[in-house]
Amino acid sequence: MTRLRFAPSPTGYLHVGGLRTALFSFLYAKQQQGSFIFRLEDTDRKRFVANAETDLMQMLQWAGITIDEGPSLSGNYGPYRQSERLAIYQKYATDLLENGHAYPCFCTQERLENLRNEKQQQGLPFKYDGHCRYLSSKTVSEKLEQRVPHVIRMKLPEINETLFINDLIRGKIGIESEELEDQVLMKADGYPTYHLAMVVDDHLMEITHVVRGEEWLPSFPKHILLFRYFGWEPPAFAHLPLILNPDRSKLSKRQGDVALEDFKAQGYLAQTMVNFVTLLGWSSGDDQEIFSLQELIEKFSFERVNKSGSIFDREKLNWMNQRYLQQLSAEEIYSLAKPFLSQSKYSNQPPGKLQQVCRILQPRITTLSDLPKKLPLFFDEESQIAQAGEEVKSILVQETAQVVLRTFVEEVKALPDLTGSSFVALMKSIQKSTNIKGKQLWMPMRCAITLEIHGPDLPLMVDFFGKEKSVAMVQQALEWVS
Ligand code: GLU
Repeated sequence: MTRLRFAPSPTGYLHVGGLRTALFSFLYAKQQQGSFIFRLEDTDRKRFVANAETDLMQMLQWAGITIDEGPSLSGNYGPYRQSERLAIYQKYATDLLENGHAYPCFCTQERLENLRNEKQQQGLPFKYDGHCRYLSSKTVSEKLEQRVPHVIRMKLPEINETLFINDLIRGKIGIESEELEDQVLMKADGYPTYHLAMVVDDHLMEITHVVRGEEWLPSFPKHILLFRYFGWEPPAFAHLPLILNPDRSKLSKRQGDVALEDFKAQGYLAQTMVNFVTLLGWSSGDDQEIFSLQELIEKFSFERVNKSGSIFDREKLNWMNQRYLQQLSAEEIYSLAKPFLSQSKYSNQPPGKLQQVCRILQPRITTLSDLPKKLPLFFDEESQIAQAGEEVKSILVQETAQVVLRTFVEEVKALPDLTGSSFVALMKSIQKSTNIKGKQLWMPMRCAITLEIHGPDLPLMVDFFGKEKSVAMVQQALEWVS
């Protein structure tokens, strides 16, 4: 049975890189009819952020990533928490001590600090010098009896050897064991380090594929050794490439948004984020760019994940979000838009009107948060014409524009009301009576009603405003340029 896990540390929000790791694991697990597990790696108490777990859960849920097993949290599966499994890690650390693969290290912070400074002065990288590895068993027993604070370190092989993995993305990679150090496995506070907890949990949870960021690549030899010391089969590994800014620096908060919740708050849709983030590194091999979650599950493969970094292209993200927004039904866009509309002063407008506005603006927005910015035109009593740009003005001042607008005001009087279709019929009649057609006929009306050159659909706007307000807007346009 294929089993993959997402194993973030609760240090804050869900980074888009984290979403990608979760997605690739989820997609592959689903494709193979396997299980997807969420494991909270909360053993670094110094970096623990209290509400991070809730945020991670909410964001996974928002993205449509479902968890197949784990402790139950209000009806849904939640994460296995490493902090609740300390006795398990302690047991396995004791096994390693007993089998001679690990040793207690009593070195003080001060000694390690001095060692680090010494190496720094010599321009050498710091590596633990193995001081406690060679303590006599008598000394070790005495110190343990005296309860001298200590950590537990793993023993590297005495003789250098090359440790290999067959990475699903990068192929065969080897690292010399002499490049490593005797890694701390258990800290003095009784918590395991990532290295021990990850190996123990991936084994006990029967994980078949480990998907994680390439920052863990230098650590895999330690993990391979630990699997060997325990006599366990290691899982397959896939180390994902970095996500980069357009200048090829590592994507970081300093340069812009990286948290999934920021994108959500800006009005990017969940489908957009899932589709876009999966394409950060993976491609289907043809030109297809728009994928539903189901298609991604069917098509995903580790072979088609790039080795090199992927650029986070904000323009592509915007393009994709527009695509997804345009596909929504009137009900869908309105329901997704509600939280954004409720932040504006127009939230008390009749729901039917708000829904109509969402529909009118739908083809013209990049994110849902564009909606509230465009509401004054639809709902404010006072005229917005003064805010129109120079281009609009330059059209409205033209002689033919004035003729069209004045004729509109005249001829509309004969109509009891104005709807989208009666407006189109009226425009045809204005064309006949003025002999002005095409752009010269339509553009002045567009400018007067939408205040933009490339505004939303004009008949829809006129329909929304109705006769009285449409006439008022045309008159305001006439006065503005006179
Ligand atoms: N807790 C590790 C992290 O947040 C997870 C690495 C892994 O997936 O094994 O980077």
